[in-house]
Amino acid sequence: MKISRATLSAWIGIAGVAAVWAGLGAEAGAEAVDFEPDAETIGAFFPQRADPDAMRKRGFFATGLTPVYPSGAACFEANSLFASTTRGDGSGRTRRFYAGYHGGLDIPAPEGTPIIAVADGIVVHLAEGDGIGGIGVVLQHAPEQTGLPVWTYTEYKHLREMPGLEIGRKVKRGEVIAFVGKTGTVGSRAYGAAGHAHLHLSAWYGATDKFRSARMLTPKDGHWLDPLALFRGPPAASGEIEKLPTAAKKVPLPYKAADGRIVPAETKVVWPLVCAAK
Ligand SMILES: [Zn+2]
Repeated sequence: MKISRATLSAWIGIAGVAAVWAGLGAEAGAEAVDFEPDAETIGAFFPQRADPDAMRKRGFFATGLTPVYPSGAACFEANSLFASTTRGDGSGRTRRFYAGYHGGLDIPAPEGTPIIAVADGIVVHLAEGDGIGGIGVVLQHAPEQTGLPVWTYTEYKHLREMPGLEIGRKVKRGEVIAFVGKTGTVGSRAYGAAGHAHLHLSAWYGATDKFRSARMLTPKDGHWLDPLALFRGPPAASGEIEKLPTAAKKVPLPYKAADGRIVPAETKVVWPLVCAAK
């Protein structure tokens, strides 16, 4: 018998789902726990209850990291960085979500473009939200899978459809996990009836592998991670990144090429969209 997450919810109520789910199927390293988020966690992570002080305490502020795209390949480029107050087209972000600050990177790409896992990891959350989020998937990565000394999470949003992945499924760096879409953007004040096809990539981290999986995923005692820090390597903490010299804030992006090569070969982490030959 196949037990769906929805069936579980009906049986035991939303509150118990995460813990039971972890016991049923997930392996070590995907430890959903049910914790009551404190005021700082709510202020830092809940989009419509954002509190700028709590956001700052949990690393949600601009670090100054900027991407350096490969000279030998053509990559889809981000047009709105982490904690930016503007969208890719230069317009101001709605203050309804995270007080107007961007929770990740936006990378415009045609609908249907394959999205790849940035690192080895495990599927820990699938969601279809109202509003701007659309369809999303979250992966969890152990420290040795990224090279950062913390447990990290990568979230991929506005997917074309719900990916055919189960919670607890292991994924490999560079594996196709979903397709670019515009879910959550169609009919919004910002993007209008046509919507806007792009990948939104968010990242968070925690000292342990524990997280809460409810309407959204929240790492226990978690912090926001500038997604570009994934590609740069340590440190993870926004406060430490902010203090780096300007030259150290330029982040050459490791990537997967259309012919399957990983560049540079030793990287653990790749840009979430394949780069074409130039
Ligand atoms: Zn975004």
